[in-house]
Amino acid sequence: MKKLSWIIPCYNEEEVIEVAVKRILNVSQLMEKYDNELIIVDDGSKDNTREIIKELNKNDKRINLIGLSRNFGHQAALQAGLDNCSGSAAIIIDADLQDPPEVVLEMVQKWENGFDVVYAKRKERKSEKILKKITASIFYRFLNLLSDIDIPRDTGDFRLIDKKIIIELKGMREKGRFMRGLISWVGFNQTQVLYSRDERFAGKSKYPLKKMVRLAKEGIISFSNKPLKVSSYLGFLFSLVSIVAILYVVFVRIFTAQWVAGWAFLSIIILLSSGLQMVLIGMLGEYIGSIYLEAKKRPLYIVEEKII
Ligand code: UDP
Ligand code: MG
Repeated sequence: MKKLSWIIPCYNEEEVIEVAVKRILNVSQLMEKYDNELIIVDDGSKDNTREIIKELNKNDKRINLIGLSRNFGHQAALQAGLDNCSGSAAIIIDADLQDPPEVVLEMVQKWENGFDVVYAKRKERKSEKILKKITASIFYRFLNLLSDIDIPRDTGDFRLIDKKIIIELKGMREKGRFMRGLISWVGFNQTQVLYSRDERFAGKSKYPLKKMVRLAKEGIISFSNKPLKVSSYLGFLFSLVSIVAILYVVFVRIFTAQWVAGWAFLSIIILLSSGLQMVLIGMLGEYIGSIYLEAKKRPLYIVEEKII
């Protein structure tokens, strides 16, 4: 019998995890052809999440726990789940029921029809604030413009992936992890299903602005080196401007008597170019920082306890 592994990352989800597990199990009962396992990754929750998962495991051995030693972040938690699953396919799903498990029925159908990745694309984002919708949409367009691979718009991590892809992902240990990008990058036969994203069942988002910006940055840095090229283009442009400025200065110095004037022009040029240099150095810093992080070769996450 083929097995489906549900990968459920959790960070402080005591209010939702039990209901989510119930709903997932209900859906899995509709798919009698398959064995199901739930790999719940507790990403260093500070509330009761882990105890609840342990309790659930006592009554139902399909429910497994991977407890990380601290909060390593959503993307690392997903990889911890994938590293420990044994299914012929994995389903990556949030714990807060924003990704309706019922959509998985359709995903499995497509997988059976020969697709290796079935990602869920959002028709609408009922719940989300207008600001998140706008920033997300700008981010996806920007990322596709910058990077050479095509990352589908309006998709999150909610998707089904075949074992083939799980094996490839296990081999990629890069730290600046952007799962959606990596899964697009591996190729194979990919398709989508449409769904409407529900509201969070309970609790608050575990993705504050800081974590969202970090994810966006990782997406860009690990899938594009175009920002680095910006530096040379702007350098070239500024050199042209300087040549014109130099000619102007020489002209004023030789042919007019008012050559002390023009300090405003000079200070504008200096401020502008030094500001620009700062930005470009910062950009280099981001790349060097990520090289540094990779060079240390630390593990992606540390498992504190495993109940499988
Ligand atoms: N999550 C996690 N580690 C984190 C942040 C989030 O494992 O550091 C999990 C979280 O419990 C949820 C999923 O990732 O299952 C998506 O997070 P959330 O729903 O808070 O994000 P949003 O839907 O608001 O973007
Ligand atoms: Mg959510």
